Amino acid sequence: MTDALLRAIDQRRDDLIGLTQDLIRIPTLNPPGQDYRLICEFLDNRLRKSAFETEFIRAHGTPGDSDRYPRWNIVARREGSRSGDCVHFNSHTDVVEVGHGWTQDPFGGALIDGKIYGRGACDMKGGLAASIIAAEAFIATYPAFAGAIEISGTADEESGGYGGVAYLAEQGYFDPARVQHVIIPEPLNKDRVCLGHRGGWWAEIETFGEIAHGSMPFLGDCAVRHMGAVLEAFEEKLYPAMAARTTEMPVVPEGARSSTMNINSIHGGQPEQDADYTGLPAHCVPDSCRIMIDRRFLAEENIDDVRGEVRALLDDIKAKRDRFDYDLREVNVVLPSMTDREAPVVQTVAAEIERVLGKPAEFVASPGTYDQKHIDRIGKLKNCIAYGPGILELAHKPDEYVGVDDMLDSAKVMAGALRRVLTGSTE
Ligand SMILES: [Zn+2]
Repeated sequence: MTDALLRAIDQRRDDLIGLTQDLIRIPTLNPPGQDYRLICEFLDNRLRKSAFETEFIRAHGTPGDSDRYPRWNIVARREGSRSGDCVHFNSHTDVVEVGHGWTQDPFGGALIDGKIYGRGACDMKGGLAASIIAAEAFIATYPAFAGAIEISGTADEESGGYGGVAYLAEQGYFDPARVQHVIIPEPLNKDRVCLGHRGGWWAEIETFGEIAHGSMPFLGDCAVRHMGAVLEAFEEKLYPAMAARTTEMPVVPEGARSSTMNINSIHGGQPEQDADYTGLPAHCVPDSCRIMIDRRFLAEENIDDVRGEVRALLDDIKAKRDRFDYDLREVNVVLPSMTDREAPVVQTVAAEIERVLGKPAEFVASPGTYDQKHIDRIGKLKNCIAYGPGILELAHKPDEYVGVDDMLDSAKVMAGALRRVLTGSTE
């Protein structure tokens, strides 16, 4: 291989492994949002060596921000030798809880058979490491490049991104005058360009009853039975209606190409006690039952219709069922986001996937949301995709890992994209 840029990436293989391990070993669990400052300092230290200028930004007053768990973000910028476009790589630094079922140390970063294990290996510290190596190799190979490169490490993506990318977008960090191309190295597989994501609507529904002695339920009114009627209506009407709706969005996996809804939790009656509590329950008719719904919707659906459909079902039950009453509280809304297939960053990365991997890029959309929504709606920057190493299905699972060869390949694609945009050349 004669391409000096690809060679420069291969030469950094051990560095890429070490960098990924170092990032995994900082346990940036969210919740509560710990060690954000530490990982920003680590990135600061690393990127300054390649002449990046860095800014630390705390998202004061955002959900979860406190002096104990401050929401720290870092934005690093490396100016080129003359003016031109800026390419920004945005990675979230937080990881989700560990959960059960691990055979590896979740914060050990063990390297076994070409795979690095740990919470966040795939989602998305492997992607962050690949983008850093790509930028460093590019800068070393083409020191006279035009424009600028930015790398950000941001908080709280796993809890909505309000203390991370949303906050930075509000402060103007994704203003199209400052940044023109954004690549988010989320784990969508090294041969796919992710154009966007479905929308999400989260709401809590509560049914009401009347407390009474459990031996005389006819003297009260059971809120759990009322919720049963809600669940039955979902099964009979809502789920079949959602399954029948399909999208033009290339969502992967296939199952997410229609509307979906998860019921996150259900609770009615007395609060659950600690596992070591040995007392018996008191005999009461529950006067409240709550569920949390997680409704994912398609670009073809309208958020008002999504809300209205659930409300209409509830109102219909109310009209027919004795003593039924409910409350619906909206918790959060995320609208779908889709970048145009002809957008420059899509075309650039797709061309590099084909050049590096020798096969055409696949265009996909994500079933769940990620920080693109904030860059799109708050930043007003449409030229944004997700592209990064790692297998989507491993995210949030036990024994999460990222493959070293996949990271190297995607670093080559990212570095090639930098070269295309910042030097105008492909070699
Ligand atoms: Zn992620």
